[in-house]
Amino acid sequence: MQDGVIPHKLENLPLEDSAALRESIAATDIRALLMTYVHLSRDETMLDRFAPHLPSASLGGVPDPSDELLASLHERMRVLLTTPGAVPAEPMSLALLNRIMSIGMGEPVEDEFIPLLLEQTGLGPQHERSGRPARRSIPADYKVLVIGAGLTGIATGIKLAEAGYAYEIIEKNPEVGGTWWNARYPGVGVDTPSHFYSYSFELNPDWTTYTPAGGEMQDYLVRTADKYGVRTHTRFNTMVVGIRWHETDLLWDVTVRSADGTHSVLRANAVINAHGPISRWEWPKIDGLADFQGVKMHTGDWKADVDLKGKRVALVGTGASAAQCGPAIAGEVGSLTVFMRSGHWVLPNHIAGKPVPEMVKWAMRHIPNYLEWFRFSVYWTGSDGLYPNLLKDPEWNGGDLSISAANAALRDYCLHNLHTKLAGRPDLIEKLTPDAPVFSKRIVMDTNWLPMFMRDNVSLETAGIEHITPSGIRTTDGTDHAFDVIIFATGYNLARMTGSLDIIGRDGRNLGEEWGDEDPEAYLGLTVPGYPNYFHMTGPNSGPNHGAGINLLSEAQIHYVIECLDHLVENGQAAMEPTQGACDAFNARVQAQMPNMIWTHPKAKTYYKNSKGKVIVSWPFRLVDYWRESRAPQLADYDFHALARAMETVSP
Ligand SMILES: Cc1cc2nc3c(=O)[nH]c(=O)nc-3n(C[C@H](O)[C@H](O)[C@H](O)COP(=O)(O)OP(=O)(O)OC[C@H]3O[C@@H](n4cnc5c(N)ncnc54)[C@H](O)[C@@H]3O)c2cc1C
Repeated sequence: MQDGVIPHKLENLPLEDSAALRESIAATDIRALLMTYVHLSRDETMLDRFAPHLPSASLGGVPDPSDELLASLHERMRVLLTTPGAVPAEPMSLALLNRIMSIGMGEPVEDEFIPLLLEQTGLGPQHERSGRPARRSIPADYKVLVIGAGLTGIATGIKLAEAGYAYEIIEKNPEVGGTWWNARYPGVGVDTPSHFYSYSFELNPDWTTYTPAGGEMQDYLVRTADKYGVRTHTRFNTMVVGIRWHETDLLWDVTVRSADGTHSVLRANAVINAHGPISRWEWPKIDGLADFQGVKMHTGDWKADVDLKGKRVALVGTGASAAQCGPAIAGEVGSLTVFMRSGHWVLPNHIAGKPVPEMVKWAMRHIPNYLEWFRFSVYWTGSDGLYPNLLKDPEWNGGDLSISAANAALRDYCLHNLHTKLAGRPDLIEKLTPDAPVFSKRIVMDTNWLPMFMRDNVSLETAGIEHITPSGIRTTDGTDHAFDVIIFATGYNLARMTGSLDIIGRDGRNLGEEWGDEDPEAYLGLTVPGYPNYFHMTGPNSGPNHGAGINLLSEAQIHYVIECLDHLVENGQAAMEPTQGACDAFNARVQAQMPNMIWTHPKAKTYYKNSKGKVIVSWPFRLVDYWRESRAPQLADYDFHALARAMETVSP
């Protein structure tokens, strides 16, 4: 990105001075409106006037400008937008951009964040290549195969096509969407605000709520896939069963199984495995599971035809899926008994499930750059702004309760919410107060989860499950609980990251065996020694577990993969794989950071760790660090394989 050149949109201007414009300006978010206004006007006086009224957004500060000041902003914005030529055409300087961001958020936004923010908010240039000259021609028969058409696979296809690569996606489902096609339990929804949890290159001004239902997220993914022609590159109802590296041709042989059970082998220069980090649901290991005579189902495999009306229902688990499903069915079932093994901290979220007012959607559609600035404000408070909460302060003496001052403050905030929502029920407050610090496992958003326990037909059971009986559940205190339906909201197998895929690399190496059930290691969570041109998306230790951001992580990884492919094509190389030394050094650096992170707190019980206590899912640094490290491959960290055959070439 060139210094001092921050463009802005001018296409819609000037706007008509209408009632809709005035109402929509009045309905907008204060921080996002101020930032948009200064971006468009360069009127820094408003920054100075608002600065004392914009406390730290990451610490939950609420803007408190006077009515007069707010009215002045609204009026200036109206005049700016409706006066021909009022918005200067010249791009803004980086220094002003930084000032707008820092005052807007009420805290410093360091320079190092700016390139990421410009890309991810849609305010600036996107996915810029690493300064190399224009891409050389790509061989005519060069093909990239992508496994899975979820959020990651769809974006991979889009970006591969933009870069000129021929690709095919193999998808076992009949539709794109992945998680959002699969997850159909009542109440399923996004718990990361979708104005950020969406593609940076496909902003959506029309989200109906700030945290949309799963179906709306799915519609967005289908729409995006259609817009970019991804569906025509996708082979549906087809499962990749295995991939094998061909030692002499330096290609992957990919075995796929079609819906009719027939197998065929496809060839690809590179395989991008986007089969999903959270797509393999599994039954919990509880004795007697097969004996149950009623209906049992998993939130990851919901049976829509099961009628829950008036039924005695057990809900096993208290994580994110349970917290969405429980409140959605509590009003319909006869009784709901929630079985809790260990508590989750519940974060009050004032916008969760709230509709986006029509006038705000109007602003997102019509006021230039407002949508981008709103996305920035959501990103900032939902991702790296949360990182300090997960970092242990060596000076802090919080025992089992907290790991730093910020973490303790968050605990107080969550506790206050718990006590307020469960007022008058000390028994519930006691049971639902976790014994570990906030963020030691995935946080749960409070979408009516806590108030649900106040219902007469809902009870909370904290005695452990001893086993499943033909008629229900026996707890460790010897009590038999009878149920018609047991719902397991017990999560997914994240640890066996190869799933059921057979991945055979160079010299017959077998990734499923090397990683086993819970010991995956990769370089940048993405490439693996011995597996040339194999890219394992959202792989080991790349999980953005301090905040929102699988979308950001996926886009960063896609960028990196395309940089790798470009390097190969430009240099006439066939394949690349990280050296064992580079992979080991990367993992040593990652694991060296873990003692500083909350997941290694003695009380932390989380699926981010394997059974030996090693954190295998999470990225222990900030998202901006991952983004920076994934701009381009460090060539010294890779071994290259020479091209073994002549190839025709075409221009991209
Ligand atoms: C209930 C639920 C709620 C979530 N909420 C959030 C949230 O609010 N915010 C957030 O950031 N993340 C959330 N997540 C995480 C979510 O999984 C990711 O954000 C994201 O959707 C992952 O996209 P993906 O494309 O990487 O994987 P997936 O969406 O899992 O897609 C993988 C695709 O690969 C296909 N596939 C798998 N194996 C094969 C094979 N062998 N052959 C062919 N196709 C195959 C699958 O059918 C699937 O379509 C949630 C997850 C769940 C389960």
